[in-house]
Formats: sequence, structure tokens, C-alpha cells
Amino acid sequence: MYSFAANHNDDNHLVYSKITKGEAKDLYDKGLLGRKEGKVIYDKLVSQAIKCPYCGEIGFVASLDHYLPKSFFPQFSILPYNLIPSCRDCNSGSKGSGYPIQEEEQIIHPYFDKPIFFEDQWIYADVITSINQEDPYVLKYYVSCPDGWNDIDKRRAKKHFDKFKIAKRYAINASEELSIVVDARKNTLKNLSELDYQSYLIEQSGIHLHINHWRKVMYQALANNTIFCASKI
Ligand SMILES: [Zn+2]
Repeated sequence: MYSFAANHNDDNHLVYSKITKGEAKDLYDKGLLGRKEGKVIYDKLVSQAIKCPYCGEIGFVASLDHYLPKSFFPQFSILPYNLIPSCRDCNSGSKGSGYPIQEEEQIIHPYFDKPIFFEDQWIYADVITSINQEDPYVLKYYVSCPDGWNDIDKRRAKKHFDKFKIAKRYAINASEELSIVVDARKNTLKNLSELDYQSYLIEQSGIHLHINHWRKVMYQALANNTIFCASKI
């Protein structure tokens, strides 16, 4: 999609055989959002997902995002493949100011991209020990793509991860859950041996979530950390 040329600046420029850029731009605002019949379709598209697919299901879907910005690609302004139900945070970035011109700058399309982005694990976390008594452990998320991926796919994953501030947003979610985990280890799970506790954490990481989900990656990181498993906190 990075290979599509953005349209001419002139609103009278034809983007289809008889539709000008100016008319195509109006299709979304006036046709889809501005008309009752259009709004029904808009609402249906928004309700296709509850959780936002851009940020790994952290945010709740609030609106439709144009994968290719409509200011540059008005011909795709109402194309369903270009409309992604997304959360407020993911849809409030700087997409209006530019568009990808290199393949490696292209963020991952949640529905029509390479299966490797959804089937392989490429987000991991480290458990960091902190001196803060209230939060003795924090999670640091990072990108580590499989060796078999090509460089462009690796850069695309990193681009997506950075653009949607996934490290920070995953860590915020994890810190809330981690305090519950730590509390359980001090109380209901205090009699588990290091190995039993590690098995428990591995079991938790197997929960039915997508492979790069913050919770799944968090439990995996905790289970892999021998200091965390051994400590009764
Ligand atoms: Zn999001």
C-alpha cells in the first residue's frame, strides 16, 4: 500500500474516471457520516470489533481510522478495507500529516497483512526489579522479531510498536495486573514452591489471548524470571 502514490493537491484532479479529489473527500464526511443511511453503515463498521486491533486490544473501539489517510488518499475514503475500527488513542496520531512512502514505514494492517505479524511472537517483556517497595517489579516491553523475518518486516513491526506507543501502554496495563499477582503470591499462593509457582505462571500465560497480548507476554516474562519465581515478595 506504500506503493500507492498520493493524489494531486488539486481538488479538481480526477481520482476515478468521473470523481474528483474534492468529491471523493466528501464521500466520507458528508456521505457516510453526514447521512442517516450512511451513519447506519458507519455504526455497523465500528461495531465489528470491541477492542482496538492497532494497539493489541488495549483500547476500546471509538471510531473508524483510515489506514491510508483520507487527506492523501481520498479515493479510499469509504473503502471498507481502508476503514479500521480503532480506539481514541490510536486514531489521534499524526497520520493526517504524512503517509508511508517506503514499505518499512507501513504500519501493520490489522486485517489484511502478512500472517506472521499475528501468528509469530514479536513482543516480549523483561521483568525489572525496582527499589520501590510499592511496585517491586515492573515490566519493560520490547520488540524482538523471529530471526527468519526479513529486515523490512522487522522494521515494520518496530514502526507499529513505536507509533502506537505500545511499550508504554502495555506497561501501564501490566502494572495494574502485576500488583494483583504480587498480592496473590504473598497471600493465597505463598505456600507454592518456586517450581510450582513457575508452573502456575506458565499456565496463566497460556490463556486464550492473541500471541502478542500484553497479559500473555507478561506472564511469560514472569515465569522466565527466576528471581521473581523464587521470591515470596
Ligand atoms: Zn488502539
